[in-house]
Parts: sequence; C-alpha cells; structure tokens
Amino acid sequence: MTSRSLLEGLNPEQLAAVTLPKQAALILAGAGSGKTRVLTTRIAWLLQTGQVSPQGILAVTFTNKAAKEMLTRISAMLPINTRGMWIGTFHGICNRLLRAHHREAGLPEAFQIMDSQDQLSLIKRLLKALNIDDEKYPAKQLQHFINGNKEAGLRAAQVVPYDDFTKRLVELYAAYEEQCQREGAVDFAELLLRCFELLTRNAMLRDHYRERFQHILVDEFQDTNKLQYLWLKLIAGDQAAIFAVGDDDQSIYAFRGAQVGNMFDFERDYQVKNVIKLEQNYRSFGNILDAANTLIQHNGTRLGKNLWTSAGSGQPLRVYEGSTDLDEAAFLVEEVKQLHREGLALQNMAILYRSNAQSRVIEHQLFSTGVPYRVYGGLRFFERQEIKHALAYLRLIANNDDDGALLRVINFPTRGIGARTIESIQSNARLSRASLWQAACSGGGSGRSGAAVAQFVNLIEDMRRRSEGLTLPEQVDMMLDQSGLRAFYHSEKDGQDRLDNLNELINAAMNYLAEADDRSLTGFLAHASLEAGDHQADAGADALQLMTVHSAKGLEFDAVFITGLEEGLFPHENASLDPAGLEEERRLMYVAITRARQKLYLTLSQSRMLHGQTRYNVGSRFLIEIPANLLHWLNKAQPAPKMGGFAPAGNSSARPTRSAQAEHGFHIGQSVLHAKFGVGVIIDCEGSGGGAHVQVNFGGSHGIKWLTLRSVDMLTA
Ligand code: ATP
Ligand code: MG
Repeated sequence: MTSRSLLEGLNPEQLAAVTLPKQAALILAGAGSGKTRVLTTRIAWLLQTGQVSPQGILAVTFTNKAAKEMLTRISAMLPINTRGMWIGTFHGICNRLLRAHHREAGLPEAFQIMDSQDQLSLIKRLLKALNIDDEKYPAKQLQHFINGNKEAGLRAAQVVPYDDFTKRLVELYAAYEEQCQREGAVDFAELLLRCFELLTRNAMLRDHYRERFQHILVDEFQDTNKLQYLWLKLIAGDQAAIFAVGDDDQSIYAFRGAQVGNMFDFERDYQVKNVIKLEQNYRSFGNILDAANTLIQHNGTRLGKNLWTSAGSGQPLRVYEGSTDLDEAAFLVEEVKQLHREGLALQNMAILYRSNAQSRVIEHQLFSTGVPYRVYGGLRFFERQEIKHALAYLRLIANNDDDGALLRVINFPTRGIGARTIESIQSNARLSRASLWQAACSGGGSGRSGAAVAQFVNLIEDMRRRSEGLTLPEQVDMMLDQSGLRAFYHSEKDGQDRLDNLNELINAAMNYLAEADDRSLTGFLAHASLEAGDHQADAGADALQLMTVHSAKGLEFDAVFITGLEEGLFPHENASLDPAGLEEERRLMYVAITRARQKLYLTLSQSRMLHGQTRYNVGSRFLIEIPANLLHWLNKAQPAPKMGGFAPAGNSSARPTRSAQAEHGFHIGQSVLHAKFGVGVIIDCEGSGGGAHVQVNFGGSHGIKWLTLRSVDMLTA
C-alpha cells in the first residue's frame, strides 16, 4: 500500500491526527469516530514513511482481543514483520519487561501471575495462618485495599494509616507482600507496580527503553489509572511522543481507579497544543446514534460532544420483553437464527449483558439449539476448575515454591493426604519461613500420610525430569497422564466436558507456540493468566459472540443485543443509589449502544432467576431515557402470573407522566405491601395506566425499588 492509499478515505481531522509531527497528542472523540483506526493508521504511516522502525513502537490497548485486532489491522495495511513492535495490554507489556529483567526486578525466573481468584485464595490462606478474624478483616476487603494502594503506586511501607483498623490492614498488606515474594507470585497490579519501580530504580534499563520506544500510542486512554499514567510518563521520558486517544463518555473503570482526569493531566503535563476532536461517526446508523447521544445527555459530568453520521437513520431499535429470562433467551436465539438466515454471519452479531451470571441461560439456549457461540470474559477457559488444576501442576513443575499451586493439587486427585497433614506442613513452613514445598520435602509426618506426601514430592520431581526435552504440548499431555487428572475425570460421571477442556489445553499450548516469542513453560503459564479466553469455540469458526458490556469496549458488530434491561440489573443495583455510580452505568449503556452498526435490540424480562432466586424487576430507566420514537416494541407485555402484570416500562403508551398518582388515588408517603419485599413507603411515581410505576423504599436489605403499581397493595389511604 502506498502512503497515499494508506491515508485515503480519512476525513480532514483524522488525516491531521494520523500525520501529526512527533509530539504529544490527544485525540478526544466519541464512539465509532475512528480513534482506533487513526491510531493504527498512524503506526502504519510512521513505519511506511521510515520515521520509525517496528522496534520503536509501543502501543497499549485495553484487552488482548483489541491488541490482536490492532496487529491484524496493521499487518493488513503493511507487509512487514510486526514482531518487533510491542503491542499489548498494560499487563502484557509489563509482564514482557519483567520476564526479560526478572533478576533486576527481584523476581524468580519462573514467577507466576495470579489472577484475582488466586490472589483472593492466597489472602484467605494468609489470614488463616495469622489467625485473623475474617469477620473483622474480610479477605475481599483486604484484596481491595491492597489493589487500590498498588494502583495508586503505594507499597505497604508507604501507606499512612489513619486509624487502628487501617493500621492493621497495612500490616496485613505487608505480610501479603512478603508471602508473594516467598512464593514468587505476582498479582495483576503488582505487574505494573514492579515494572514501574524497576524502571524508576534502574537508570540503565530506563534509558535503554526510552531510547528504543520513540512513539508510544495509547488507546482507550480514559480508562487508565494513576499508576498506568505514571508508568507511561516514565517510559516516555523526554524522547518519546505519546499519542493518546480516548472518550470521556466511555470511561467505565472508575470503580477500579481509572481517572478521566488523566486526560487533563496529560494535556497539562505535555503542553498538548491542540486536542483533536472527531465528530463524524462511521459505525452506526442514525437511530442508534441518536439513542446513544440522547441517553448520555442525562449525565451531568461530561466534556460534551455530539456525534453525527452521514449514513441514513436505519431501522428503529427493537425492544422485546420476555415473561421470563428463558423466554428472553428463546427470543434472542430465534432472532439470531433469523438474521443468520438473512445472510448475517454469526460473528458479526453480539449478545451483551451487564453481569456474567446472565450468560448461563442464554448459553444453555444456544447450546440446545446448536448455534455455535463464543464467550469472552466471564468464566474464561483458563479459569475453569479442571484447567486450574492442570495449570497448578504445570506451575509446580516450573516453580516448586508456588504455595497456591501446591495446595490446589497436593490432594487432588485424592492421594490420602488429609487436612491435618496439610496443616502440619503449613505450620512447619511458617516456623521455618520456608515454602510449603520445602516443608513437604523435609517430611510430611509419619505413617501413611507421610509416605503419601513423599510420593507427591516424587511425582512432581519425576514430571519435571520427564519434561526435559519435550515440547510444550507434549509436556501438557504428559502431565495430564502422570498427575492422574485424566484418569480422574474419565471416571467421573459428568467428566466428559472437563476431559474435553483438558485436551483443549494441549491445543492451547500448540496455538501459543505458533504465536509466541517465549516458548517456555513459564511463558505459556503467563499467557494463560493474561489470556482473555479465546479458545473455547474452534478458532476461526463462525460463532455468535457473547460478552459483558465491559469486554465489548472498542469492538463493533452488525447486530447487537443488549439484554437484561431492568432496574437493578442494568443499571446495576450496587450503583443505582449513588449518582456517580449511576453515571458510570449510563456510560456503560452508551458503550453498549454504540457497538452496533446496523441493528440494535434491547431486551428485558419480567422475571429472572439470579443467584438462585426469582427476581421481579421493572424495565430499566435507560429505556425511558431513549426517545420513544426510536423504539419499536415487538410485543405487548404478557401478564406475569404471580405479580399481577407488568407493562413495558418504556412503552410509548407509558411515558412518564406522573399522572398515576391522581389516577390511582395513592400518594407519596403512603405505605404499601409487596409479596416479596414486605412493607415499604412510596417515595416516587412515574408513568400512567398499565405502565404506572412507583418507587418504594423497603428499608433494610431490599432498599429502594421501582415496581409496577399493580404489584403492590395499598395499606393506608
Ligand atoms: P470506539 O470509541 O468504540 O473505540 P473508535 O473511535 O475507536 O470507536 P473505530 O473503531 O476506529 O472507532 O472506527 C469505527 C468504524 O468506522 C470502523 O469500522 C472504522 O473502520 C470505520 N471508519 C473510521 N474512519 C473511517 C473513515 N474515514 N471512512 C470510513 N470508515 C471509517
Ligand atoms: Mg476504539
């Protein structure tokens, strides 16, 4: 491709952004305006015009899927070897750096990455070992405390406690640091912090990378946290130019410490001369865009911008209300099949949900009707129980001191090592400040259990010896046999699925080898911890895409289904009482809507099984915030059997009129009775006729809920 054809089709603002001289730049623009396209085209243009070699490029994105997509786009534009470029997530890039310089970073060569589950179980073990009351210091809270501090760049020694409680948390944080170091275990936040400290301390390395990376490009900049921004500044130094693109309306990680404020800091710190704005949307039809624009205007805190498109308005957004979640899922699958018959590829359609738990019912429906699908995020392949067991064996082979791995498999499959023996190994380890492995090697007690421990130690050592000279997939295969995992799941009644997954791990190892530079077992294990789980449907096969709204960021599909549009689900109940939380939910909805190119469906259900309970919820306020003339309701509401009937909350015949009060003769402050939530007090009302809703405060654990008027009984006049 010539440099002219590379730039062909860009609009003037995009062209200006792509061809900026080497200087700090901020592209601030709405969804689908071509930010990612500008970023990738700029990389291709810089390379093609010889301004930089592939080694000089560092590009950061938010998900592994996005990083892969970026590489594909660049390779399609330029026939070059993209290997020299560093394109990845913050975590992936830091991992790469730490692997290369583990000694300087004070880490063992085979350091293991813990995902948040691994981290939580390490914390639980730690609390137990220290005899800490976990009612008073819940493991989850400590995890949150540790990660929050790490993301702010603070080690335990640097955190200033402000009361006795935080003083204890800081001590536990310090104990956690020590334990991780002993095990050679690294959590996600640690990857970044450790890398940041390494480059801060080690001038030689810092200069090396500053020299190397001339252009640093960051996608989804609105979702960087404080430490990530400091890391970028550190690695950029004075030489490199940072090219940042982002959209404040799509900031959806504030709950994890992301700061939209980084955009202002960046502008100030680098004296960014002109912030380039892109306003033309190339992705979606007008109706979809109008829905997104109107919805996001309900947020108070935004920089403010509007998108336009030259595409037509397209079809209205289709809304379907199921009577149950099963009914909703059946609709989704039927509609997907219909669109597929009309010629749309499955991979160009996505079903989005707010919470992972929603996917089960949909998956079940897809599975039983034979529609191929792939789930991103959620229970990722590498998080499944049997895969975790298998990885634990591999981790132990790579690094004996990995306590988490040892605990997971020392008695799995069962080999006669009981809880008491394990406890005694743990206390020996504590006393001698050694790893569990070392304690196990020096004897696991007398008699049968002692012999079983010795056998386990021999098993791991034997597997390590056998690994030598084997390729990675062969190592995995050998481990599955030697460990007894294969035999175990073979004998299980419903073990076939799990066996399939274990065999899939061999494929994962093969795929990894085909792509990776680092072909070692530890490289593969790091990949497993970072990977977003793309391995479940046959790679390359046409499959419907299922994912949470969070993982859909940056992606686009011809048809998008946003599901579970109910108060308490989307917006999520944890956020609905807090204005900042609600704004974040709305940005999330904005992200969801703007994924759609041609067709957008919004679905909800009158009742839903979640976490073992049937929940009855009213339609999401987001359905009301989208102008009614953009919505086409596909069905009239069915009366729900027990609750006495719902009308769709956003039905055009039920726009909020606040006339319900007069019509139905109740008043704010009145007491009501609800079959499930008990007695509450009306605090607000909306809609009219069959669609009238009241907001009721039930106090206690039920809190405040929007309900249909019909679902409550008036207690007092
Ligand atoms: P998001 O905020 O969702 O990440 P974005 O701003 O990164 O969106 P892109 O994904 O880069 O947007 O672009 C959206 C779509 O518009 C892509 O399919 C892209 O190829 C297309 N596009 C961008 N610019 C142009 C253009 N000048 N001409 C035609 N199509 C374009
Ligand atoms: Mg993008």
